[in-house]
Amino acid sequence: MANYEEVFKKVVAHAKEYGFIFQSSELYDGLAAVYDYGPNGSELKNNIRNYWWKSMVNMNENIVGLDSSIFMHPTTWKASGHVDAFNDPLIDNKDSKKRYRADVLIEDYVAKIEGKIEKEVKKAIKRFGDSFDKEQFVGTNPRVLGYKSKCMSIMQRFSEAMAANKLDDVKTLIKELGIVCPVSGTKNWTDVRQFNLMFKTQMGSTADGASDLYLRPETAQGIFVNFLNVQKTARMKIPFGIAQTGKAFRNEIVARQFIFRMREFEQMEMQFFVRPGKEMKWYEHWKDSRMKWHLSLGIDKELFRFHDHDNLAHYANAACDIEFKFPFGFKELEGIHSRTDFDLKSHQKHSGRKVQYFDPEINESYIPYVVETSIGLDRMFLTILSNSYKEEKVNGENRLVLSIPALLAPVKAAVLPLTKKDGLPEKAREILSLLQCDFLCQYEEKDSIGKRYRRQDAIGTPYCITVDHQSLEDNTVTVRDRDTMAQERVAIDRLYTLVSKKVDFRNYL
Ligand code: ATP
Repeated sequence: MANYEEVFKKVVAHAKEYGFIFQSSELYDGLAAVYDYGPNGSELKNNIRNYWWKSMVNMNENIVGLDSSIFMHPTTWKASGHVDAFNDPLIDNKDSKKRYRADVLIEDYVAKIEGKIEKEVKKAIKRFGDSFDKEQFVGTNPRVLGYKSKCMSIMQRFSEAMAANKLDDVKTLIKELGIVCPVSGTKNWTDVRQFNLMFKTQMGSTADGASDLYLRPETAQGIFVNFLNVQKTARMKIPFGIAQTGKAFRNEIVARQFIFRMREFEQMEMQFFVRPGKEMKWYEHWKDSRMKWHLSLGIDKELFRFHDHDNLAHYANAACDIEFKFPFGFKELEGIHSRTDFDLKSHQKHSGRKVQYFDPEINESYIPYVVETSIGLDRMFLTILSNSYKEEKVNGENRLVLSIPALLAPVKAAVLPLTKKDGLPEKAREILSLLQCDFLCQYEEKDSIGKRYRRQDAIGTPYCITVDHQSLEDNTVTVRDRDTMAQERVAIDRLYTLVSKKVDFRNYL
């Protein structure tokens, strides 16, 4: 399907129709950029989280887990820099009254120019055929070079203006580029202002002198303030990592891309503590390891790319994103950041307590450096969902299938008696009880078998197990594979092994 916007609309509608994702508080017309996960969605989300956790914690003997709280002492956020610097530059269009992130307006403008480069490349591939050398073409073609230099100069002007906090210059840039509001089509912009993204709340009753708290905007700080607790109790030696998954909250200015940008979302983060000076080696290691993790799920590697940050955050000495080609373009899925000793040092300063590690190998105490990998669970969910949504023609009929990796599929097998009588339901329930302790299965007896297959395809169930009259005689069933649609006669006592093998974590290593 060529029209990405249309595909995206279909994915969103499918997510609702099949119980993956609902708008939060829909009964009250919804709450913007907040979503609920339905029966299939919560399963898929749990499976993605478990896959990440197992890959990080089970498969690395030097990584341990943590589950820290959402509320933290308010000084945490002063020390981390979030109170003073966790801002986005916002701008309003006076005609449409719509609010935008100034950086996103500029980045989208640049992405359009990059799109032109891609078009030139495609044209050249057609022209030169097999003899085409992409690298040489983008390095020498005058039109492409012109586009590239335009992109670079825009991003440089933007970075410099942000670094110097010159918000007027950001507005001037938007005006000079002629960026218009997508809704009103006008250039009637307000000034650019900084907006803090943290949600504030209060703990205790006001009479007692309640203290202001924040809902955590990232899970990382829970790891930093527990660094010594974990290191000592789990007897960890540097280099080691702490992994955690959990909710984070950001009062996003613009939140219009379904679960890509939410105000309440979930992160899967791992902070890896290393000896100062070793961080670049580990940064490269985790870049490589995380890309492999994404590719392990069988997604086309052309849909991923690294994007180095031009604009480093106050705490980082190197940073990049793993971007995924969502239906609305390449966007950040995961961040890999070399955070130096910024956070631990700052917590040491603000708490007045030593946050140091004694390294027996070199007989020295120091504040470790940190390399983090940080991925949004909801964005990973959207990656899996949008990548697996497929419309196919089978024997002249439309088939809609979610080709979700079997390990992540919400339901692993559906058990389907061919008819509702002759003892077939009882036989089917026997099979269900063989499988259900280890695999989430569905029992379905309503509608024709074809319709039931289609329903299971639409939620991505890898196997449909059909019980028929022959099953009563020879204890075999028909197993239909979601992807090949091939049907095979299988002995009931082989089913458990068959499903186990299909969803085995080892297939993904
Ligand atoms: P963006 O530039 O898209 O706002 P970010 O650079 O602020 O993202 P990080 O602070 O690096 O994001 O957060 C780590 C990860 O958390 C991101 O890669 C993303 O997957 C996820 N994430 C961040 N903000 C959101 C959000 N509002 N909704 C869903 N996921 C998010």
